Amino acid sequence: MKRLLAIALLLMMTLAAHADKVKVRIFSNNTIKTLNISFDLGAYNLYADGDNLIEDMVGEGRSVLVRREGNLLHLNVNETDYGTFSSIRLEATDTACILCLNPEGCKQRTYEGDLEVSPLKGGGNLQLINNVEFETYIAGVVQSEIYGKKSDIFRIQAIISRTWALRNMGKHRADGYNFCDHVHCQAYLNRCIRPDIMMGAIQSSGETLVDQYGALIETPFHSNSGGETANSEDVWRSALPYLRSVEDTFSFHMKQSDWTKTISIDRWLSYFSKTHKLNTSDDAVRDTLLHFSQEHRRARLLGIPLTRIRVDWQLKSTFFSVSVDSASRNVVLHGHGYGHGVGLSQEGTIRMVELGIAYDSILRHYYTGAFVHQDPQANRNYVEQYVDQIARIIEEDKNRQTQVRSKKDDWLGRLFRLRDREEREEVYIEDQQDNEKDWEYEW
Ligand SMILES: [Zn+2]
Repeated sequence: MKRLLAIALLLMMTLAAHADKVKVRIFSNNTIKTLNISFDLGAYNLYADGDNLIEDMVGEGRSVLVRREGNLLHLNVNETDYGTFSSIRLEATDTACILCLNPEGCKQRTYEGDLEVSPLKGGGNLQLINNVEFETYIAGVVQSEIYGKKSDIFRIQAIISRTWALRNMGKHRADGYNFCDHVHCQAYLNRCIRPDIMMGAIQSSGETLVDQYGALIETPFHSNSGGETANSEDVWRSALPYLRSVEDTFSFHMKQSDWTKTISIDRWLSYFSKTHKLNTSDDAVRDTLLHFSQEHRRARLLGIPLTRIRVDWQLKSTFFSVSVDSASRNVVLHGHGYGHGVGLSQEGTIRMVELGIAYDSILRHYYTGAFVHQDPQANRNYVEQYVDQIARIIEEDKNRQTQVRSKKDDWLGRLFRLRDREEREEVYIEDQQDNEKDWEYEW
C-alpha cells in the first residue's frame, strides 16, 4: 500500500503539469461524413456504444472506416463489416500510440491519445474528439500557433497557451468537450512532430502566468504589434492592468511588420457617410478621414472604433495611417503589425529570443506586472533529464540527415519509448522514507 501510494505520488509529481487529459474537438472547422483511420505507432482497443469491445490491439496494417448512416455510425475494419453504432472509441493501449486521420476531403493529420467518434447533432456529419494528455495538447498547440527556431520561443508560447487553457477549461462544457481546434480556442492542427518544439514545451512544464495575487491571467497574443501593443479596453471591453500598451520595437523588420492597402477615395468616404452617417462634405471631416495618422496607437477615428473599421475593411491591424494619392484618386492605408495588438507579439517574441533576452523578461515585457509561476509539483529534475534526451536526439538526427528513416524509428518514436521507460522503470529503494528521493530513474 505504501509502495502504491509512493508510485501514485511520484507520478503526480513528475507528471503534474500534464496529468490530466483534455477533450479537444478536432477538424471542428470541417464538414466530415466519412473518416478513414490508420495506425502509425502502437495499438488501440476499438469500442462501440460505450464499452462494447469490437477488436483489441488494432495497429499498423489495419484500417478503420467510419461513416455517418442516418443517426448512427457505420463501422468497417479492413474487410469486416460490423454494422451500425451510436458511438465509436479508439483507446490507446499505452503512451506510444499515433493515429492517422483521413476524413474525406481533408488533409491527413496525426494525433496521440484516444479518439471518440459520434454523430454531430443537427446535420449528417461526424464529431471527432481527441481525448489527450494536457501537455501533449499544449505541444500540438504550440506547433500550430507559432513559427521559429529557438526552443525559448516555444517555451513562451507553451506558457501562454497553457495559462489560457487552464483558465478556459469549461469553454465548450455545454458541447461535451473542453476545446475546439481552431482560433476560437487555440489552433491544434496536429500532434507535435518537431523535437525543438517538444523541448520548449517540456522546458515550460508547470509554468503559468499569474498576476500579483497569484491568479492566472488572460494571455492574448497576436502575430505582430507593429511597434506598439494595444490597451485591452481599446480592443475589447475591459481594461486589464496587465494588458497595457507598451512600446515594442522588437516587432519591427519582421514578416508582418508593415502592410498597405489601397482604396478609392470615393469608396473610402462613402463608407463613412453611409455606414457611420458622417458628413463627408464637411471639409474638416473630409480632411481627417483622408489624412488620419497614428504615431501612437489610437482607439477611434472621428468617434468610430478602429476595431470596427478593421473588420469592415478586413485590415491586418487597427494601427494605420491614411494618405492620399491624388494621381490615382486613391487613399493608401499604411499599416503596422498583424492582429488585435493586445498582449504578446509573436514576432516581437521571436526577435527578443534571437537577441538572447530571457523568456520570463519577454513575458513581463508584454504582460505588465505579470509573473511566471512555477508549479512546485512539477519535477524540474525530470524536465531537465527529458530535455537532455531530446537535445541528444536532435544532435544525433543532425548527423544523419541524409539517411532515410522509417516512421517508427524517428525521434518521436524514440522519445515515446523514453517516456514509457520514465513511467515504468522507476527503482524503488525500500529501506528509505516514501518521498520523491526514494526513486531513481534509469535513462
Ligand atoms: Zn472553441
